[in-house]
Amino acid sequence: MPQAKQKTSFYRDQRDFREPPSDAGWKRTNPIFVIQKHDARRLHYDFRLEVEGVLKSWAVPKGPSTNPRDKRLAVEVEDHALDYADFEGVIEEGSYGAGPVIVWDAGPYRNLKRDKAGNEVPMAQALEQGTVEVWLEGKKIRGGYALVRTAMGGKKQNWLLIKMKDEGRDARRDPVASEPWSVLTGRTIDQVATEERPG
Ligand code: MN
Repeated sequence: MPQAKQKTSFYRDQRDFREPPSDAGWKRTNPIFVIQKHDARRLHYDFRLEVEGVLKSWAVPKGPSTNPRDKRLAVEVEDHALDYADFEGVIEEGSYGAGPVIVWDAGPYRNLKRDKAGNEVPMAQALEQGTVEVWLEGKKIRGGYALVRTAMGGKKQNWLLIKMKDEGRDARRDPVASEPWSVLTGRTIDQVATEERPG
């Protein structure tokens, strides 16, 4: 768990992850997802899903794609506390993951995973089985995404993040490149690094 939690409260009034979009009929009880852009030793995107009160987390070096043909490596990392979902700031030198973080996208999600009889597979069970399917309702990323454990290279923490074939697919969009800003504050990761550098 990275340090620098003290920055979180500054953004708390801007938090709107749980606000339903006006037309989509979301209930406030929907769990949230967040994608944090994190410029640590290597730039990556931390993809997190609220499951049973914690944030299940994967580090995705290239970030999410809107093209179903892309298979993005997603390395499972430690769970984070739910409070971390709106963290934006600079993790101090000397702490794990030192470097700037922005909330690149966030919103509610729904579990899409069904068994053969059509019953919802609980998220914890889908994670255990290594096939997660979720509908994301972010500001940049919308639609179905699959996370599939591949155990590539014999590493069971290796998954693939794949856009599902639905109306959210768009092979021409590249939001990681074209929409680099924070959905909380509009800042880029370089602005956060400059404005919030400790000391
Ligand atoms: Mn990270």
